Amino acid sequence: MNIIVCVKQIPDPETPASSFRVDEAAKKVVPAQGIPPVVNPYDPQATEAALRLKEAAGGGKVTVISLGPESARDAIKHALAMGADEGILLNDPGFEGIDNFQTAVALAKAIEKVGQYDLILMGRAAADWDMGVVPMGVATLLGIPCVSIAKAIERVDGKVRVTRVLDDGFQTVEAPLPAVVSVSNEFGEPRYPQLRQIMLAAKKTVQVWNAADLGLSADQLGEANRWLKLEALYVPKVESKVEIIEADSPEEKARILAQKLRADKLI
Ligand SMILES: Cc1cc2nc3c(=O)[nH]c(=O)nc-3n(C[C@H](O)[C@H](O)[C@H](O)COP(=O)(O)OP(=O)(O)OC[C@H]3O[C@@H](n4cnc5c(N)ncnc54)[C@H](O)[C@@H]3O)c2cc1C
Repeated sequence: MNIIVCVKQIPDPETPASSFRVDEAAKKVVPAQGIPPVVNPYDPQATEAALRLKEAAGGGKVTVISLGPESARDAIKHALAMGADEGILLNDPGFEGIDNFQTAVALAKAIEKVGQYDLILMGRAAADWDMGVVPMGVATLLGIPCVSIAKAIERVDGKVRVTRVLDDGFQTVEAPLPAVVSVSNEFGEPRYPQLRQIMLAAKKTVQVWNAADLGLSADQLGEANRWLKLEALYVPKVESKVEIIEADSPEEKARILAQKLRADKLI
């Protein structure tokens, strides 16, 4: 079974709030000093799902793709250390500042270039922008089904059977292959790479494809050609004002409080 897993490198979600900064003029997140980026937490679960499906099928190949800066190689190496077979980094100056839709276009082009695949696995959402739209975008562009937020995935009679997480329960659906499935944290713990696997993965070659390799031209890339217009990016300011009500008795305090709430039209 040939499976493609898309993994994304993101700013560490554990970054302390005091180190999180946004450049409002440039509408960009300023990378926190001394805090290296990490693999999107849902993506090792997608890799885990791919490895289990390959093991159950008794063979095949797991190919990992990441679009990002040179550092995104680490996200690929993590998946290789878990047991994935091949890694491809999509890296090009034209990919800087692109939106989710341009990302989906580039990933779909890369998947078409890989060619042979039965299944594409992704995380349910990237924990930085948290939009969860790339899996649907890629499936739409490839003209194949997409099943989102999976807690269990199995291959049955040439189809994929997926148990989806709903707000109030679970839903089991089947889709013909090839398909895209986005994997949720309910899938379970991903395997932890051993030191030996990490060292072996470090030696594995990661192919690098640029925009031209994917047949993408300058008028499809860069901030200028985003599908989404980013109006503003800012950290919301939380302001609190405390007023202590002084009075001789609890009843008097309650009466003053009620008057103030009524004056502010809160009751
Ligand atoms: C208007 C706008 C401006 C933006 N500007 C910037 C910017 O300047 N710099 C910047 O870094 N980001 C920027 N982004 C964010 C960037 O476009 C998205 O993070 C990226 O496209 C992925 O979308 P997502 O985070 O919504 O992924 P989701 O759809 O939430 O991700 C779901 C899954 O898709 C897969 N996936 C998503 N992205 C990738 C990837 N890159 N490689 C491999 N797999 C992936 C992963 O499996 C992931 O778990 C911008 C977004 C918008 C909308």
